[in-house]
Amino acid sequence: MRGLLALLTATTCCVSAASATTVYPLDRATILARSPFDMKVEFDTVVKPDEVTVTVNGKPAEDVLGQDVEFVEKEEGLKDGVEASAVLIRGASIATPGSYTVEAKAGGETKSVTWEVYGTPAAPKAKNIIFFLGDGLSVAHRTAARIMSKGMTEGKANGRLNMDDLDHMAFIGTSSTGAIATDSANTMSAYMTGHKSAVNALGVYADRTKPSQDDPKVETIGEALRRTGGKSVGVVSTAELEDATPAAVVSHTRLRGDKADIVGMFYDVKPEILLGGGSAYFLPQATNGSKRKDDKDYIQMFRDAGYTLATDKSELEQANGTNSGKILGLFHTGNMDVTLDRDFLHKGTVDKFPNQPGLVQMTQVALDQLSKDEDGFFLMVEGASIDKMSHPMDWDRAEFETIEFDKAVGLGMDFAKTHPDTLIVVTGDHTHGVSLIGTVDDEKPGEEMREKVGTYAEAGFPNYEDKDGDGYPDRVDVTRRLAMFANNYPDYYETFRPKMDGPFEPAVKGADGTYVANEQYKDVPGAVLRTGNLPKSADSAVHAVDDVVLQATGPGSEEFKGYMEQSDVYKVLADVFALAPATN
Ligand SMILES: [Zn+2]
Repeated sequence: MRGLLALLTATTCCVSAASATTVYPLDRATILARSPFDMKVEFDTVVKPDEVTVTVNGKPAEDVLGQDVEFVEKEEGLKDGVEASAVLIRGASIATPGSYTVEAKAGGETKSVTWEVYGTPAAPKAKNIIFFLGDGLSVAHRTAARIMSKGMTEGKANGRLNMDDLDHMAFIGTSSTGAIATDSANTMSAYMTGHKSAVNALGVYADRTKPSQDDPKVETIGEALRRTGGKSVGVVSTAELEDATPAAVVSHTRLRGDKADIVGMFYDVKPEILLGGGSAYFLPQATNGSKRKDDKDYIQMFRDAGYTLATDKSELEQANGTNSGKILGLFHTGNMDVTLDRDFLHKGTVDKFPNQPGLVQMTQVALDQLSKDEDGFFLMVEGASIDKMSHPMDWDRAEFETIEFDKAVGLGMDFAKTHPDTLIVVTGDHTHGVSLIGTVDDEKPGEEMREKVGTYAEAGFPNYEDKDGDGYPDRVDVTRRLAMFANNYPDYYETFRPKMDGPFEPAVKGADGTYVANEQYKDVPGAVLRTGNLPKSADSAVHAVDDVVLQATGPGSEEFKGYMEQSDVYKVLADVFALAPATN
């Protein structure tokens, strides 16, 4: 195909309207110099190869992008009845920073997009990056965590969160390529690749064909670090490791649900430290509890690749004492239990998985191991259940997760004190529609629970206590507690109370498949039915489009300021590690 597409000038026949032509990467994409990516042009009709030209800055695309052009006359996997052509260049890359305008012509139609290719300084600014991702972390979570953990007297906080002392800050826009709203996949993917994508997509632009793993790829930070040098990589999460946020460090798929394949993508990149839940996708199908549909035994494969396996807290501690330098820690078949259940109430699945480590211990082990690498490291730490408990509006659990996340951030900050060549980034991937509006005081007069909600001066201060000084309130079911509410919800019973029997399940599937309020909470004294404001297909509260607050400290952190797209964050990381120094 080389040369064929470039030859051609527009012919007069055949192409009716290629105006819906799409070029990936999209217009205004920012691309790290020398970083491999796939280019795709999707025409909206069937065109002949000799009707098509694709140029980059006026030159044949294959000359600029360094790879052959693949012309697909009729793409497979399109929507029923649709026939259309496409042009693909896989594994393209551009070495020289600058503006690149792509022109795709088919017949009389032209589509043009411009990319910005960026280089980085010649010298790294820091040796290590610790990227803390509080999934769903919103302003209300921080405020409530500060009040619950530190207390407040006469309007002044009695202490500060670790995050409160990070000195650089930016507002981050989290919208996806197809919608103002977002999920963890496309936002974390944007952080980890520099390219925004569609909801549910990881490390790819979401194309129009059905298969989830043929979409145009962009390089992940995990791959970039393998391509450019000898740094170690660590991924720590309280979710399944195949969940969108941890997966984004290495993965390429249109569908975050491709969890069995995502394990394979981790195996391809082999981060030295992998700690979290999700063992069900590592086990061959014959093993009880496996969620794989094949016989691959990834636990054995990782072991054969030199990893020490840990399945609980004690094994993790032991593994930390070995010198393998590579640890695969899988502490749950699914998502790990949350702090409030694990360390306080012993609900959830804690009886089945009684000895799970927490985010703090996992972060400590990751830092102990990764810091042995003289080339430095990239560590991603996710507090996943801030989000997972905010969906069902289980605010006490979400807050304990936020407090634990902040403690992990504190470990990172302590590490940076002795390793000042470390950039620390703390951010969320999206927000939740949650606000802290006052207190709920059981001793306030009134029959109905809503009369016990104190607002303005009536709110007073909550009466949590932390007598043992562990940073968590000793109990959540105190008489005057925080009043947090979501602004979006399915039908559910608002109980105005902590959920002491296990994580809240606000809505359940009704007979017609839509979600209805969970009757289990109907008889909680004072519970009121809130009629949802979301479609009845929603079983929980959803993500908000509100900006995320990113904070950072250390070398390079001064680049975080004002408003940034989540995809702009990658350029800061690339600069700090000097991933694309100029070549002469
Ligand atoms: Zn979520």
